[in-house]
Parts: sequence; C-alpha cells; structure tokens
Amino acid sequence: MEIGDEELGIAIVGGGICGLATALALHRKGFTSVVLERSESLRATGGGITIRANGWRALDELGVASKLRQTALPLQGARDIYLHNGKQQKISYGGGEARCLKRSDLITTLAESLPVGTIRLGCQAISVKLDSLTSYPTLQLHNGSTIKAKVVIGCDGTKSVVADFIGVKPSKPFMLSEVRGFTVYADGHNFGNEFVQVKGDKNTIGRLPVHENLVYWFVTHQVHGRQADPSKVSKDPELIRQFTLQSILEEFPSEMVDMIRKSELESVSQVRLRYRPPWEILVQNFRKGSVTVAGDAMHVMGPFIGQGGAAGIEDAIVIARSLAPALAKNHYKKWSGRNGMMVEVGEAFDKYVKERRMRLVMLSTQTYLLGLLQQDSGSMLKFVCLILMATLFSDVIRHTRYDCGRL
Ligand SMILES: Cc1cc2nc3c(=O)[nH]c(=O)nc-3n(C[C@H](O)[C@H](O)[C@H](O)COP(=O)(O)OP(=O)(O)OC[C@H]3O[C@@H](n4cnc5c(N)ncnc54)[C@H](O)[C@@H]3O)c2cc1C
Repeated sequence: MEIGDEELGIAIVGGGICGLATALALHRKGFTSVVLERSESLRATGGGITIRANGWRALDELGVASKLRQTALPLQGARDIYLHNGKQQKISYGGGEARCLKRSDLITTLAESLPVGTIRLGCQAISVKLDSLTSYPTLQLHNGSTIKAKVVIGCDGTKSVVADFIGVKPSKPFMLSEVRGFTVYADGHNFGNEFVQVKGDKNTIGRLPVHENLVYWFVTHQVHGRQADPSKVSKDPELIRQFTLQSILEEFPSEMVDMIRKSELESVSQVRLRYRPPWEILVQNFRKGSVTVAGDAMHVMGPFIGQGGAAGIEDAIVIARSLAPALAKNHYKKWSGRNGMMVEVGEAFDKYVKERRMRLVMLSTQTYLLGLLQQDSGSMLKFVCLILMATLFSDVIRHTRYDCGRL
C-alpha cells in the first residue's frame, strides 16, 4: 500500500486486541482514529484467550460482549491436578463470568465494529520522532513515508517502537515457553465446562473448552540451555507438536497426550513468555508529549492468570474516557506549534497512566511471582514467592472483580 506523507488526528500503532479495542473505544466516544498494522492481515495467532469477569465488563462497554458470548461456553470453574502427589484443587470463579474465546473471533468482532477505513494493513511504523517545528509526533513508516499525528497510542506489542520512543525499557523473557493449539472433537468432547490444569515436574498442560466441539490447550515448558535463546523458538507446527509430545508422553495422562496428538496442525504455535517487572511498571514514565502506550507494549505479563489481553481492553476504555474531554474541547483547532491541545492531551494521558498504574502493578506482581514459581528458580526463591503469594494474593480471583468503569 502506498501512503504519502500525511497528517492525522489520532494514530494507533498496532492492530492487535489492544489497538483495535482502543480504536473502538474512541469510536464509541465519537472520535475517529487510524490503526496502523504492519501485517498484511489481522493476526490472531495463539489460538484461544480466556476472558474473565473484568474483561467481559470492558467488552460490554465496547458493545461487543453479547456477540462474543455466542461463540464460547461459560466456564464454571477450574481444577488443578498435581501429578507428583495426585492431589486436586478446585478453584471457584465465584459466579464471575469466564469464557475461552478463539482469538480470531475476538479480533474479527472488534475489527468489524470499526468504521470502514479505520485499519490500514501492511503499514509498519519503524520509529517515532518529534516534529522540530510543532513538537507533534511523526511516525516514520517502513515504505519511507511519514505520518504526522496529533496523538499517537502505541499498541504495538512487546517490541514496541512507540515504547522505545518514550524510553520504556525492553521487556524480559521468563525461562518458560508456551505451546498452544486447538483440537476439534467432531462428535463432541466430554470434558464438561471446566478449565483443567495438570501440573507435572517441568511442564504444565491446560485444557479449556471453547464450545462442545472445540478445545483450546496449552503446554508450559521450562526452557534451558540453547532453548533459552528466545530467537531459537521454532515456528514449524509439526516440529513444535513432536517436541511437545516427546516432553509430556511419559508423565501426563493419555487423554491429554491424545488431545495434543490430534490437534489441528495449523493452530499449533509456540511463544517465549515475557514480562515487564512490577517495579518498572511502578516507576516507569509511559507518556511523552502526546504519545502513550497501552496493552503489551506497556505491561506484557505471563499468561498464568489469563489477564494480559483483558488488561489491554481495560486500558482502551480508560484511554478513551480520559482523552475524550481534551479531544472534544480541541476538536476544531488547527495544526499549529505547541498549543493548548498538546498540553491537554498530555494531561489526559497522565490521568490514564495514573488510573492504570496500581492495577497493572498488582497484575504484574501476581504473574511475576507465578512465573518464578513455574520456572526453575531454586528452592529458596520459590519459598519466598510462595509466602508473597499467600500474603498478597490469597484471594486468587480478586483480579477478576476489578471494574475499569464506564466508557
Ligand atoms: C501464551 C499466552 C497466553 C495468553 N493467554 C491469555 C488469556 O488467556 N487471557 C488474556 O487476557 N491474555 C492472555 N495472554 C496475553 C494476551 O495475549 C496479550 O496481552 C495480548 O494479545 C496483547 O495484545 P496487544 O494488542 O497489546 O499486543 P499484540 O497482540 O502483540 O498486538 C500488537 C500488534 O501490533 C502490530 N505491530 C507491532 N509492531 C508494529 C509496528 N512497528 N507497526 C505497526 N504494527 C505493529 C503487530 O503485528 C500486532 O498485530 C496470553 C499471552 C500468551 C503469550
């Protein structure tokens, strides 16, 4: 796609869950934005995504929850099974809504709710600079063109160029990787509507029904030696599945092994898990001028409580709510040098970051501790993590009761 140098009001970099949710939240408030997505199609890699009660509240605000509810069964609760002692632990969702969606359903529903022309595919931002005359941000695109925007929101994931521009430190890898995929049961599965996690010595397998005929599964592996290099993560689904089967064959129940053996090959993928440490989220500046970040670009976290995506949707609601008054007030202002609009947008983004910060510190602390407990961290560190978990997160579903409020 050929794009000339142009001027935009609001540019959102990245068309993943958070970028699309942010564009939709702004649209619902009456503001137009443009989503710049580097891929030639909207990506939905990673199979399934669990959305808990807090995420459904945010999706309700965006007006897409009822459509999405039709695509996935409600989950009644979770059960953890420990292979070393055969013990089981039931986790109640306390009546809160939980469903495992196909990521593609979530992405498509968000995208289809946006006005035509909002999303530009094949449009990669390679850097952000400040215009020397106006101090507004300018996006350099991979095709050599530039976009001057009044407002830039970076929803461009873990390797965010927008976060780089703001000065946010790069995220860090856990010593864990996750393989995930779908298995179709044409005659229906008989797993009920429960999230089951089987915990072995070095691997954990999770199984989540999406609907009567479809199950999403994941395997979390510890990584060691050569595998520790994140660039060595395989992209070949057949290799990934073979390697996964080898590593679980001896230890895990045959029902779990069969589920992975019979999975849809094209749905199988692997990812190295990453995080931003809670202490960085506590002190990091997430705004520069009229530029901010949201979603994984701001707060990538381990998937152990299934909250990263939902937290990005919450960000979207809070950004739109905080930004709307500044945008409404400055709607008719023309492009000019440093003006009141930039100050007001900056203040709105500060309000957004302030509102989100402690919520994100808590989520990232919980997931950081759970990550340290799952990876090979040494017994002393694990003991400390267990104490902190018991002290800070004894109510294991508290994070799902959070309400990000009205749009
Ligand atoms: C294994 C695993 C399981 C998970 N399970 C859950 C779960 O059950 N529940 C949950 O809520 N969360 C879960 N998460 C977290 C969730 O997947 C992420 O938090 C969420 O996908 C992040 O969305 P995002 O839009 O911020 O980033 P991304 O999904 O990474 O999207 C970023 C988008 O930006 C585009 N992009 C990147 N750079 C540029 C650029 N320079 N220019 C233009 N476009 C660009 C990318 O192509 C991409 O489309 C899980 C994560 C993992 C790894």
